[in-house]
Amino acid sequence: MRMRHKPWAEDYLREYPDIVDIDCQHAQSVSQWFDNDHPIHIEVGSGMGQFITTLAARHPHINYIAIERDKNVMVRVLDKVRAQQLSNIKLLCNDAVVLTDYFLPHEVARIYLNFSDPWPKTRHTKRRLTYHTFLNIYEYILATDGDIHFKTDNRGLFAYSLESMSQYGMYFTKINLNLHEEDEGDNIPTEYEHKFAEKGSRIYRMEAKFHTNTKKS
Ligand code: SAM
Repeated sequence: MRMRHKPWAEDYLREYPDIVDIDCQHAQSVSQWFDNDHPIHIEVGSGMGQFITTLAARHPHINYIAIERDKNVMVRVLDKVRAQQLSNIKLLCNDAVVLTDYFLPHEVARIYLNFSDPWPKTRHTKRRLTYHTFLNIYEYILATDGDIHFKTDNRGLFAYSLESMSQYGMYFTKINLNLHEEDEGDNIPTEYEHKFAEKGSRIYRMEAKFHTNTKKS
């Protein structure tokens, strides 16, 4: 997402330390930022935040964390959180590569990846948010029965992600090859999803887990 540079963005984000972490103040203690022990769901690369703020408004008993590295974009998430006076969402302005600095092992119940940058060139494969180094980070922070929900319009990234996750040893509990033509359930569209769906693009979606539930009944 290319957003016009906003020279005031950092100062604005810094005005709300109760909502935004910009200097890794919550290293290893991000869950203590909330004054309850509700489950934590995160969105990596949340863009302008339509998806996660809608979820937060609908589910007050879940704690949400939006992770977005671009300050010029994060200000749009902060606007939405303030306008709706949402108390169950926090914003981490940082790169996903440092997620393990914030979370303890298995602290997160769900990870959303929506319309992640596809990085189509082979030399940029490592930047894809489903490259194995990122899966390694997600596995560290995700609860054993936690899951990843992934949506994209990009067929190449979808195919790559299915392969990368399956090679990592993950398994899929849901795969939709044309989300908007199938039963969408309670699908919440993101800003990118609106844009691509309007153009007639097909939207792909899947849910994945790291470990088979080995509990014996
Ligand atoms: N999820 C939003 C949507 O669907 O409308 C935004 C999609 S946009 C294509 C991808 C976003 O992910 C951008 O805002 C970008 O800055 C962010 N992003 C990409 N790589 C990231 C990373 N490694 N860590 C944090 N944010 C990242």
